[in-house]
Amino acid sequence: MRRWLSVLAPFMAPIATAVAQAHPFTHADTLRGSNTSQRAWWDVSFYDLHVGVDPQDSTIRGWNGITYRVVQPSQLLQVDLQQPLVVDSIVQEGRRLAVRRDGEAYFVTLVARQRAGDRNTVTVYYHGKPVVAKRPPWDGGLIWSTDSTGFRWVATANEGTGASIWWPNKDYLADEPDSQRIAITTPDSLFDVSNGRLRGVTPHADGTTTYEWFTTGPINNYDVAISAGRYAHFSMIYDGEAGPLTLDFWPLAFHLDVARREFLQVPSMLKCFESWFGPYPWYEDGYKLVESPHLGMEHQTAVAYGNHYQNGYLGRDLSHTGLGLLWDFIIVHESAHEWFGNNISMQDQADMWVHESFANYAENLYTECLAGKEAGAQYVIGTRRNIRNDRPIVGQYGVNDEGSGDMYYKGGNMLHTIRQVVGDDAKWREILRGLNHTFWHQTVTGQQVQDYISHAAGIGLGKIFQEYLTTTDVPVFEYTLADSTLAYRWTKVVAGFDMPLKVTLSDSGFSVIRPTDAWQRATVQLKDLATFRVDSNYFVVTQHDLAAPKQARQ
Ligand SMILES: [Zn+2]
Repeated sequence: MRRWLSVLAPFMAPIATAVAQAHPFTHADTLRGSNTSQRAWWDVSFYDLHVGVDPQDSTIRGWNGITYRVVQPSQLLQVDLQQPLVVDSIVQEGRRLAVRRDGEAYFVTLVARQRAGDRNTVTVYYHGKPVVAKRPPWDGGLIWSTDSTGFRWVATANEGTGASIWWPNKDYLADEPDSQRIAITTPDSLFDVSNGRLRGVTPHADGTTTYEWFTTGPINNYDVAISAGRYAHFSMIYDGEAGPLTLDFWPLAFHLDVARREFLQVPSMLKCFESWFGPYPWYEDGYKLVESPHLGMEHQTAVAYGNHYQNGYLGRDLSHTGLGLLWDFIIVHESAHEWFGNNISMQDQADMWVHESFANYAENLYTECLAGKEAGAQYVIGTRRNIRNDRPIVGQYGVNDEGSGDMYYKGGNMLHTIRQVVGDDAKWREILRGLNHTFWHQTVTGQQVQDYISHAAGIGLGKIFQEYLTTTDVPVFEYTLADSTLAYRWTKVVAGFDMPLKVTLSDSGFSVIRPTDAWQRATVQLKDLATFRVDSNYFVVTQHDLAAPKQARQ
C-alpha cells in the first residue's frame, strides 16, 4: 500500500514536488534513512514489543526489548522514536543508560562491553500521545476511530512515516528482526489483532486485556500493527503449495455475513499468486485479513482491509477497462505484498518499486488467472492512463525518500514489457518464483532485483530498468513507412537502450526487431501498410513520421 495521490488527488503531486524542491533533505532524514555508524554495528534479532493503548485520552505506554547481535564492537547505539512520544528510560542489564536525543534519534551510551558475536538486549520504556494519522493510510500514525455502531476502533498505519511514530526501534528498513512479539493491552471491550499468531490472552484486574501475538518470520517494522475493535472471527484451511495454510478473517462483528462472501476470493487469489510467485511466504504465521478503519495496508500476515466489501478500488476500476471490477482491489494488491514487500523487502525507501511495481503487476496477473492472458494485458495497459511521468520512480538513497507514484502503473507496465522481452512465459514464471526463492525473507536493493532478472532471463535488461525507473521518459519508437520499407529508431531513451520490439512486418503477425537510437531499415510485406502495428503489450510511445529519415542503415 502507499501513495494513491495520483488517482485520488491529482492536484497534490505538483504541490508535493514544489515543497520537496524548496526543502532539501534534512539531517533528520539522513539519521532516519541511512545506515549510520550507530546502527551498522548491531543486527536486530528480536523485538519484544509491549504497548498499552488508551482510547480515552489517545495515549499509549509501553516498552520494547531490542535484542541484537553485535557485528562489530561499539558502545554507542541509535534508537528511533518520533516526537511527541517520550522516552522514559533506556536500560541494559538493569542499568539505566545515558541518552542524547537528536531530533527523533536517541543515541544511547552502553556501559556493558559489546563483544562481536554477543547477543544483548536494550530495553526502551516510553509513553505519550502519538501523532494521529490525518489521512491514513497515506500519512501515518495512530487512528482512534469508532465503527458505525459507535464502538471504539484503534489502528495503526505508518508506512513511509515509519514505525517509530508509535514504537521505539531501529527505524531502518534494511534491518528486520528475525522474529517479534507484539503484546497489545487494550480496554476489555476491545480485541486486538496483530501480526503472526495469537499466543495468549491475559485479562488484568484493572479492566484491560493483553493480546500477545508472535511472528516467527522477519518483519518490516512498518508492518507491525495494532487493530483493536469489536471483531468477529472465522477461518478456513487452504491447501497450498507448502501444505495446509490457515486463513483467519477478522471483520467487524456486524460485517460477518458480508465478509464470509467477499473473502471467498482469498483462496483463488492465493492459488494464482502461489503459481506465479511460489509458496506463500508465511505458512508458520498464517494468512489473515483484518478489517481496518482506513483503506488498507500490507501488514504482514495481518493485511489491513478497508475496501468496504466490494470489488474494485473503493468500487472503481483503476484500469478503466471494467476488468478491475472482477476482484477486490485491497485483497489482491495488499496480499501480493506478502511476496513483494514482505518476503522480498526494500533496504531503502528509494527502491519502493520493488514493492509497488510488483504488487501493481500482480493485479494484472490475477486478472489473467481469472479471465485469461488477453484480459490481464488489457488491465495493465488500461492503467497507463494513470501514469504521470512527473519524477523518476527511484528516489534518492539514504534519506528515506520515496520516488514517484509512477512506481505503481509505470512500474507494472515496465514489468509487463519485460515479460514480452523475455518472450517465454514459463521462463517468466520461473523468474518471479526464483526472485521469491532467492531473496526469501530478505531485504534487498533494487539493483539486486534487476540483476537477478537479467541473469535469470539471460538478457541484459539494465538499460530497460534504467529507462523506466530513473527517467521521466517513455521510449519513443519513431518510424516511417513507405515503399515496403520500415525505417525506425528509439528516441527519448538512455544511451545504449536497445530494447527489442514486436511489430507487424508481414500479414502473418508480429516479428521481433531490434531498434537502437540509430535509424535502421526493414522490409515490410504487408498487403496494406495501414495495418502496420506495434505490439501494444510493450509500454512505448509510437511516433509515425511522414518524411523518411535522411540516413538509415539496413
Ligand atoms: Zn502497495
